[in-house]
Amino acid sequence: MTKGSIRRSIPRAAVARLEGSVGAVELTLIILLVLLVLGAGGYWVVRSRAPREDVLCHYRCPNCDKKLRYRASRAGKPAVCPACRVSSTLPPPPEVQGGAGSKH
Ligand SMILES: [Zn+2]
Repeated sequence: MTKGSIRRSIPRAAVARLEGSVGAVELTLIILLVLLVLGAGGYWVVRSRAPREDVLCHYRCPNCDKKLRYRASRAGKPAVCPACRVSSTLPPPPEVQGGAGSKH
């Protein structure tokens, strides 16, 4: 007889728990959505404000001496040569080096 009463009480507790968690999930979703919109907006603003970092630079592959292009914002990061597939570190762009005499 006690089994029946337990069975009845379980769904009620489950429903109550679900109702409580749904509210929290909705709140979390709204917060996440706001953060996402703010993050996307901030990223877009930062990206549009720094167009100089997207300048294309040229360098020669140290392995096969092929002339390659890369974005100035990727300077100092490793890159793989599409011709010989040897990875090398991208040199800093000549503009950032700031030396008028650094003619190579
Ligand atoms: Zn190469």
